[in-house]
Amino acid sequence: MLARCPVCHSHLQLEAIVQDEAARELLGVLSALDATLSRALVGYLGLWRPAKQDLRWDRALRLAREVLALEADPARLAWALSETTEAIRAKGGSTPIKSHGYLKRVLEGTPQSAGAGAVVPSEQVAPRAAPVKAPSATVDGVMRLEALKRRARGSDT
Ligand SMILES: [Zn+2]
Repeated sequence: MLARCPVCHSHLQLEAIVQDEAARELLGVLSALDATLSRALVGYLGLWRPAKQDLRWDRALRLAREVLALEADPARLAWALSETTEAIRAKGGSTPIKSHGYLKRVLEGTPQSAGAGAVVPSEQVAPRAAPVKAPSATVDGVMRLEALKRRARGSDT
């Protein structure tokens, strides 16, 4: 059974989800979060989806964990994720993104008590000129992703 994710438009193959350990783990992670944060996180993960492919489950799981490690306050993180996703989508183009740099900058500009009430206009948290050093984990992830893609080719379409 094939469905499409309403957020990132990835294919959701339900059989694959229940068989894939990373997919089940990701769903476990997402369902443990409050609805606002999990929705914001899934939207953000959609930015990482390769142009003509679905984001691999193990990569999505790793990215989700990286994001959750960035900020302990769920409301603040949810707000920053939504802001990042909207800003990058509004710009058009630049997806798939390759690092959490933009998100980190938005987080820096997000007030500690950021809930629904404390909203900073996006202009104020626009990325600064300073280049963000991509973590080496990104390169590693891309290499692994390429290997996974090759491996997946056989079973895909
Ligand atoms: Zn999705």
